[in-house]
Amino acid sequence: MIKPSEDNELLIQAVRDFARGELVEADRRWDFDESSMAELLPQIAQMGLLKLMIPESQDGMGCDCRTYSTLLHEVAYASPSMAVTLSVHTMVASTVSKMSEEPLRSTWLRQFGEADHLCAFAISEADAGSDPSSIRARAVKAPGGFRVSGEKMWISNGMSARWFLTLVRLDDGTPDGALCMVMIDGQSPGLERTKIHGKMGIRGSETAVIALSDVFVPREHLVGGVGEGGRVSAITLNEGRVGIASQASGIGEACLDAMVQYARERRQFGQPIGRFQAVGNMIADSAMELAAARALIFSAAAKIDREEADLASSSMAKLYATEAVNRIAYRAVQVHGGMGYVRECRVEQLYRDARVTTIYEGTSEIQRYVIAKRLRG
Ligand SMILES: Cc1cc2nc3c(=O)[nH]c(=O)nc-3n(C[C@H](O)[C@H](O)[C@H](O)COP(=O)(O)OP(=O)(O)OC[C@H]3O[C@@H](n4cnc5c(N)ncnc54)[C@H](O)[C@@H]3O)c2cc1C
Repeated sequence: MIKPSEDNELLIQAVRDFARGELVEADRRWDFDESSMAELLPQIAQMGLLKLMIPESQDGMGCDCRTYSTLLHEVAYASPSMAVTLSVHTMVASTVSKMSEEPLRSTWLRQFGEADHLCAFAISEADAGSDPSSIRARAVKAPGGFRVSGEKMWISNGMSARWFLTLVRLDDGTPDGALCMVMIDGQSPGLERTKIHGKMGIRGSETAVIALSDVFVPREHLVGGVGEGGRVSAITLNEGRVGIASQASGIGEACLDAMVQYARERRQFGQPIGRFQAVGNMIADSAMELAAARALIFSAAAKIDREEADLASSSMAKLYATEAVNRIAYRAVQVHGGMGYVRECRVEQLYRDARVTTIYEGTSEIQRYVIAKRLRG
């Protein structure tokens, strides 16, 4: 496994200390009352966690993807909601870093480190999930840019984000229009946000419907070229999937630690339940699957660091880690018996938080499709 540098070890330790103290407490509260992680954003920004993969030349932390994935794992151990917030924000920042033009690129990247410049990624619509090519949000040319109308659904960070990297269909005279990625300022007139309530898990993460009504977008806010929306989405999601895989591995480690601790403390038949082989098997399988997930994540992250375009690696990491964490969370509840079924017990929350990881940023079925397509050539 690739080791982070010594500098990064200090950063990882600082994030771990923060996560396992203050963050985990806050996350429990967000889960109970469905309040937003946004209250901690100023502190998160102060720690540099909103600019992890932004280059140092742009005042960022300049982390490589392996270090970033380790940090996200640590955040997810304590707060799966904050982890997805950071994952979405960071993948948008990375795409801007790679694909937008100066001078806007520098302006944005410097802003993204601040709490009031959170980013969101808006592809999905009510009728376009796994198949983003069926989106309906439309952009029409206007003096100096475009006017965008439509409705985006399920948008993480949607209530607090200042910037929305948004997939639209540009009326360019062709029958279907050209898919384009544009950066929409959340303060633009015509943009409205509605929070989605009642999620099963990651209840501290904001999920919103974003309605766009004739929203003006300056021409320079086109990220990638006209017709390149699909390519920009794929590049963004490639890194995003490593982020979600890291979120899953962090949840998995929290489940494993809880299982081990409970198996040591809980006694039945006159001995700790951890001494029963069946319980030991659940712990062993979980530890093995977690290690395998981490190896796949590091491999995919290393490819991103080497700038090797390999969508299948990120998909494998995401597919394996997210399916594994659901099995691990299931076992964590099982090891806790009846205690694992009540809200006071953290594994009950982790079980619910883990569930979405096989759904967003491409379902497991879509990851298998990406992997098989790559192998088919
Ligand atoms: C909490 C949460 C946060 C989210 N955050 C964001 C966000 O920030 N930005 C954003 O753009 N979206 C976001 N999403 C949306 C998410 O990416 C979609 O829900 C996901 O891509 C699946 O789309 P869908 O829900 O429309 O399901 P559908 O596409 O309708 O799929 C339903 C089922 O059919 C299967 N299926 C579909 N097509 C195929 C196929 N070709 N082969 C095999 N099986 C298939 C799927 O795997 C799934 O099991 C979020 C969703 C949730 C729940």
